[in-house]
Amino acid sequence: MEKADYYDILGVQKNIGQEEIKKAYRKQALKYHPDKNAGDKAAEERFKEINEAYVVLSDPEKRDLYDRYGHAAFSGGGADGFRDFDFGFRGFEDIFSDVFGDIFGMGRRGGRGARGTDLRYNLTIDFTEAVFGVEAKIQVPRHEACAACGGSGAEPPTKPETCPACRGTGQIRTQQGFFAVSRTCSHCRGTGRFIKSPCKECRGSGKMKKTRTLTVKVPHGVEMGTRLRLSGEGENGSGGAPPGDLYVVIEVKPHKIFEREGNDIIVIVPITFPEAALGADIEVPTIEGLVKMKVKPGTQSGETHIIRGKGVPHLSGYGRGDQHVIVRVETPKKLSRRQRDILEEFSRESRAETHPETRGFFEKVKEIFQ
Ligand SMILES: [Zn+2]
Ligand SMILES: [Zn+2]
Repeated sequence: MEKADYYDILGVQKNIGQEEIKKAYRKQALKYHPDKNAGDKAAEERFKEINEAYVVLSDPEKRDLYDRYGHAAFSGGGADGFRDFDFGFRGFEDIFSDVFGDIFGMGRRGGRGARGTDLRYNLTIDFTEAVFGVEAKIQVPRHEACAACGGSGAEPPTKPETCPACRGTGQIRTQQGFFAVSRTCSHCRGTGRFIKSPCKECRGSGKMKKTRTLTVKVPHGVEMGTRLRLSGEGENGSGGAPPGDLYVVIEVKPHKIFEREGNDIIVIVPITFPEAALGADIEVPTIEGLVKMKVKPGTQSGETHIIRGKGVPHLSGYGRGDQHVIVRVETPKKLSRRQRDILEEFSRESRAETHPETRGFFEKVKEIFQ
């Protein structure tokens, strides 16, 4: 395919001045910028061409070569030099920030830093603390600026010097054909600074691991896996960017007798076989202490009593769960001689009225298998 003329691409006359070329490029590049033409392949191609044209025409030497030899000036390497050249987005950024400054937020290198990393802390609390809330002191390690060198990484009184490899820009520009390609300087890892004698305290990193004590207000009603966010308590950001957050993840130790189901507290209370048969006044534990409960005569194992409002206070807003008391009838395991005699006599007295369920069940069985 015939390659379009660079002057045509920018829509300018051949004898135009450098300032006009810049102006034309600005106009065209804004129109076809990928931010304004998301997903538009044709616009993307066009944007590449515009940048390519500008790279050549904005440079007096390259422009001169182009004026004399046309596209042939740049295809010396063999195959169609420019077309196959991977211009890459990094390349756009450079040209862009040169011409536009930072209007698209693209030329951010060396300027804005990165937000600090979020940290996670697993906090184990008691069952009761999860119910009512607790104020916990936690020890969180975080990287902070080294006190010895003030975060510069250079052994006092020396100071970091400008990286000789990239002259402080953090980027190494290499010439490929007629294009300048930028990549992060490996000598200084893009920082633009070079430290001759690293700080002995932090070994030149400028950072020190410091453990801080924080007070976490755990609200009532949290449960296993609840995440509490402590804004700004994560790692520090770089280059003036804000710090990350600290996430405190709640783990709850199991309780000896209570279990939780959402905001309800479950407790299994064993009662004796005579208590179940005769009825009884018993005391059952709640999260706030003992309360009296009536066991009705003829209570079955597994029956549940609900004590309103003795559960977990809701994490968000008002209200509170209930306590569920599940009674479990304990069958005697070891009988004295006398107990055995009494129970045998009791058994002889059993009739359909005393054990309706048992009798009823075996009546049905009989019917099925007759
Ligand atoms: Zn460097
Ligand atoms: Zn240091």
